[in-house]
Amino acid sequence: MTPAPTPAQEKKSAIIIGAGIGGLALGIRLQSAGIATTIVEGKERAGGGAGIFVRDGFTFDTGPSTLTSPDSFAELWRLTGQDMAQDVALCPVAPHLRLMWPDGTQFDISADDTAIKQEIARLDSSDLAGYERFTNYSTEALRGLNRQWTATSFTDFPSMAKMLPTLMQMQSWRSVYGLVSSTVRNEYLRQALSFQTLLYGGNPLTTPAWHAAGWRLEQESGLWAVRGGTHRLIAAMITQFERIGGTMRLGDPVVRLDTIGDRITAVVTQDGWHGEADTIASTVDLMRLYSELLASHPRGAKQAEALSRKHWSPSAFTLFFGMRGTWPGIAHRMFLPGPRFTGLMTDIFQHGLLSADMAIFLDHPTVTDPSLAPEGCSVFRATVPVPHMGKLPIDWQEQGPLYAERILQEIGHRLIPDIEERIITRFHLAPPDYAADFGLWRGSLNSLEPALSQSGWMRPHNRDDVIPNLYLAGAGTHPGAGIPAVLAGARITAQMIQKDIL
Ligand SMILES: Cc1cc2nc3c(=O)[nH]c(=O)nc-3n(C[C@H](O)[C@H](O)[C@H](O)COP(=O)(O)OP(=O)(O)OC[C@H]3O[C@@H](n4cnc5c(N)ncnc54)[C@H](O)[C@@H]3O)c2cc1C
Repeated sequence: MTPAPTPAQEKKSAIIIGAGIGGLALGIRLQSAGIATTIVEGKERAGGGAGIFVRDGFTFDTGPSTLTSPDSFAELWRLTGQDMAQDVALCPVAPHLRLMWPDGTQFDISADDTAIKQEIARLDSSDLAGYERFTNYSTEALRGLNRQWTATSFTDFPSMAKMLPTLMQMQSWRSVYGLVSSTVRNEYLRQALSFQTLLYGGNPLTTPAWHAAGWRLEQESGLWAVRGGTHRLIAAMITQFERIGGTMRLGDPVVRLDTIGDRITAVVTQDGWHGEADTIASTVDLMRLYSELLASHPRGAKQAEALSRKHWSPSAFTLFFGMRGTWPGIAHRMFLPGPRFTGLMTDIFQHGLLSADMAIFLDHPTVTDPSLAPEGCSVFRATVPVPHMGKLPIDWQEQGPLYAERILQEIGHRLIPDIEERIITRFHLAPPDYAADFGLWRGSLNSLEPALSQSGWMRPHNRDDVIPNLYLAGAGTHPGAGIPAVLAGARITAQMIQKDIL
């Protein structure tokens, strides 16, 4: 007879709440490390922010339609000797993005530095030297700071203090827009080199300068789309997680975390499932975790109160539309800034105004992958950053249809004159939809803003400060929102858990 395992030999276990990119990446890492892992997801379908809608034969991704750093995903397969390509196919996106201003001026961003310099020369050749200075900074920020930053857990002040000399050297008190403005003079070029922080909830005017590392990162890794849509990558992550023995529990939201003293003893779901594990990790919205799931523990109310005083990232108004026709000349990703940039950013992030002008992120994934629409048709998605509901408490039920019309008029005016006649299907998501359907506090799309005062040690830690068996990953915790950061966060949290329990 085999002797019973001693406690040290028993397999350790983990429960992860939430099956977005953060929860799935963490799940694969923990399961790969031999920790029996269950992921509990409230919705019937995994993906969270990276979800999917299918309407009238058109497939719409709700979140990112492209990826940088595909290798960070591939790493999740390599952990167990698998090849990501067996589960999902990626295709390159070119150009990475096209900016188009109201006066018709265009600027293409691509991985080809020579092509970018030609674009700059068209705008203002006197800025070529400044661009060189910007790319040098971006490379240094990526190699000298970003890689170390996204590999550090920052659970105590000394870990942050150690980085202070590098933070000073990288002039972290400056913003990305401030840095760019000191290197190039052309206002369009300043916007082209700094708007990217908006993709993960950062104000280019206040997000620390080192985030310019993203420019070099995208240049080096290229930009990729998932064949069939980003949701296929979510399906592939689930395949990998289950292949290595992980358990998915879908369509059963966690309603509370039971505690004895300062330890979580059970995860309780709506269906009455009581899950017990050595470790609990949450990837759900921070406010939901602390104010709802931990409502019975004093830590819940205290942390929720502290979080309510932080700067939360903006929400968005997103218009999805499927159209008759194809537009090979409209790039996969476009950014259509309005006539104002700094003023608009201040209206969104500080004043909480729904301005008369807008900046539109226009995704056109069918130009890369026509399979997302019926033959001869195209998928479009227009995402417009707007203030979150705490700053702009308007009636979106009333405003939404009017705002959707304004967006269509703007795109019609700049790109597709007969847009209204070509639409086959359309619908929109407003801030209250992001709050109710995606569980995001005040509809804030990317959790806490990546401001300096909310970064590193000053961002919620990857292990709770009071409840030692509660870990955090996902957009709200260090290093932050956006796919590269969420994947890095899952790595940091997995390493902490392994160190603590194995
Ligand atoms: C429109 C849009 C465009 C974007 N574009 C980009 C981009 O171009 N580049 C980029 O890098 N990033 C982009 N992002 C950001 C990126 O998608 C997010 O940072 C990332 O997906 C967040 O993943 P997450 O796992 O932290 O959270 P989420 O995806 O929000 O996952 C949390 C999960 O928890 C579940 N959950 C909530 N409450 C409970 C509960 N009580 N019980 C169980 N489960 C629960 C939710 O249903 C959800 O599945 C975009 C996001 C959006 C919305």
